Amino acid sequence: MFKIIRNGELYTPQYLGKNDILIAGEKIALINKSIGKVTGVPEIDEIDATGYIVVPGFIDQHVHIAGGGGEGGPVTRTPEISISSLATAGITTVVGLLGADGVTRSVAELLAKARALEQEGISAYIFTGAYEIPTRTLTGSVRSDLVLIDKVLGVGEIAISDHRSAQPTLEMLVQVAAEARIGGLLGKKAGIVHVHVGEGKQGLALLMDLAKQTDIPVQQMAPTHVNRIERLLSEAAELVKMGAFADLTAGIYTDNASPDAVEVCDAVAALIKKGADIARITVSSDGNGSLPVFDDRGNLTSIMVGSVRVLWEDVRKTIFNGVLSMEQALPLITLNPALLLGLVPAKGTIRSGSDADIVMLDGNLDIQRVFARGKLMVDRGLPVVKGYFEN
Ligand code: ZN
Repeated sequence: MFKIIRNGELYTPQYLGKNDILIAGEKIALINKSIGKVTGVPEIDEIDATGYIVVPGFIDQHVHIAGGGGEGGPVTRTPEISISSLATAGITTVVGLLGADGVTRSVAELLAKARALEQEGISAYIFTGAYEIPTRTLTGSVRSDLVLIDKVLGVGEIAISDHRSAQPTLEMLVQVAAEARIGGLLGKKAGIVHVHVGEGKQGLALLMDLAKQTDIPVQQMAPTHVNRIERLLSEAAELVKMGAFADLTAGIYTDNASPDAVEVCDAVAALIKKGADIARITVSSDGNGSLPVFDDRGNLTSIMVGSVRVLWEDVRKTIFNGVLSMEQALPLITLNPALLLGLVPAKGTIRSGSDADIVMLDGNLDIQRVFARGKLMVDRGLPVVKGYFEN
């Protein structure tokens, strides 16, 4: 029930130096330079964090938790994610979504998987919808899903600028955004439109037009994969200047198949250079999604499955490479997505009253311990909690 994490170097993500953290149940009860002996309560777990860095649990807002893929036919449908792979990657809050396949995958499946992950210990939400417009929902409309289903924070990933999209016109995209807008208001949600951006010719033009021509607040539009190709970064920077968030996908690297791809570290540096506010940049993993590669003629040449481990690996690389300080890098996967998704103050920060979602890093910035809503999920880098059918 009660835990004290003592003497860790605390980043909230703001650096506060050595502090003790008192956890009561699922919440952070108190943060203080030195918390004395607590008496009059049942047993307290004392955790010595001397030599460790204590940071907020990570938020991954783009994970195909119930599986995805399928671009190479049914045999390439990717598997469901396990609780241990999320927790060992430091992820204590996840947003699950569908992708290209809204036919054999369903929002119902996604919701059930989110509930399972929640029961296993982490916090899990979903985006309703899939690539297509009109998109897939549970109750018949994006608006009703947002109002009626607690776990629905928005709609996505709606695909634009991609041969796998519904080839939406501005009107089609505006209709989805309008549904998310009113559904978000009525349901007291962020009502995010999480937009998958492909390598297509139009880039972010539809989102620019939506921002200029409609009254829908641009901050509800959140494009992702904007580092998949270099030319998208300039457009993303422009959108961010208009008030939108831009999401970078971890695990994207330059190679022969994707010579114009920009990895997170370099993409962050480029966005800052182009004048984008770093407080509006987020990073997600695309975990358990497919990573298909198509040739110039649109033929599938290879397909792999994404891992959530790349989330922290890529963000810490921004620190190792001197692009960002720890204080600047952490918000990319903590405070910034929490603000975007409307989850502050419960998520994305370590403060009294917030959920006890905490990651302890060693001097090498490797993940050693993870607490999700006060529960120990990972110890010495190994999973403490496993899924029902995990060995
Ligand atoms: Zn996508």
